[in-house]
Amino acid sequence: MTGYRIALIPGDGIGAEVLPPARALLDAAGRRHGVTFAYDTFDWSCRRYLAEGAMMPDDGLRQIRGHDAVLLGAVGWPGVPDHVSLWGLLIPIRRAFRQYVNLRPIKVLDGVPSPLRDATGVDLVVVRENVEGEYSEIGGRLGRGTEDELAVQEAVFTRRGVTRVVEYAYTLAESRGNHVTSATKSNGIVHTMPFWDELVAEVAERHPGVRSDKEHIDALAAKLVLAPERFDVIVGSNLFGDILSDLAAAVAGSIGVAPAANLDPSREFPSMFEPVHGSAPDIAGRGTANPVGAMWSAAMMLDHLGHPEAAADLLAAVFGVLADGVSTADLGGTADTAAFTRAALDRLGAA
Ligand code: ATP
Ligand code: MG
Repeated sequence: MTGYRIALIPGDGIGAEVLPPARALLDAAGRRHGVTFAYDTFDWSCRRYLAEGAMMPDDGLRQIRGHDAVLLGAVGWPGVPDHVSLWGLLIPIRRAFRQYVNLRPIKVLDGVPSPLRDATGVDLVVVRENVEGEYSEIGGRLGRGTEDELAVQEAVFTRRGVTRVVEYAYTLAESRGNHVTSATKSNGIVHTMPFWDELVAEVAERHPGVRSDKEHIDALAAKLVLAPERFDVIVGSNLFGDILSDLAAAVAGSIGVAPAANLDPSREFPSMFEPVHGSAPDIAGRGTANPVGAMWSAAMMLDHLGHPEAAADLLAAVFGVLADGVSTADLGGTADTAAFTRAALDRLGAA
């Protein structure tokens, strides 16, 4: 038996509704492969922020530092500005635990309608740089309210920061389709993006078996809609990766099925797994949320912890239920969260 201690942060709205189903599948898949989980639940959320003035306690990072992984539902709530949940929880965790890879697999699934006429064969991964780049706090505003008002925002790219995430993307491609597409904009952004391109070329040289493409972000966005099946691994900066992963998830169908991992590939710190969707206040409290994104995120966690067979079992059960035509309302189905979860658990047990 291998045992892990997981920090659960259900968060707000449907975040708290999709984590218990993900946990149930995790336990069931683990049981079949001799893996057990113990959980500690943390109430860090916008609800906590509204009651106590902070998303998490001062020593929050210390409290979860020793866990093997973090499973997060979603944070965000009307009346709480996005920057509070981002800078009060998500970004501190990503940065303190050096989760410099944001990984978003995108697959067109049987039973999940895509807005594209023909989306067959879409199976790609967006690797987003997760701790530096355009999302920096460096900059400021001058002359507020005057005719000459201006704002400056600096992007920070480091040799170490770019090289390690690009290296991750190339290594990942070697376990998939041997193809990496780098998102750039070196024709318009004349300092950071040429630097990015040079570092990508250096890493590419170390992986001669991988086909390398470079695309400007504008053209890449268009191709992702017109021919998404041509991509395998896409690597991009914090901003470009953010945009591309939402775009690619939309191409694949509902945001409710999309998973994400924030990884510290060195495994020195816990990595964090979370569905891509937010807290969805419009449907929260009804028990109708789609738990697939959270379940898929749990499978990524199993994989990261070194149990790819358990992860594959979990995913096969979830994808199998979808392919059988069982789905939640966001996918046009009639199952509620509990019914979908039961079907996935049954299938996992029967597999
Ligand atoms: P954020 O502030 O992070 O954008 P959000 O709460 O606005 O989060 P989104 O993830 O942007 O939510 O989702 C937009 C809408 O899509 C939701 O309001 C909801 O109607 C629907 N949706 C998202 N995730 C799910 C899900 N898991 N199940 C069902 N519907 C979902
Ligand atoms: Mg939204």
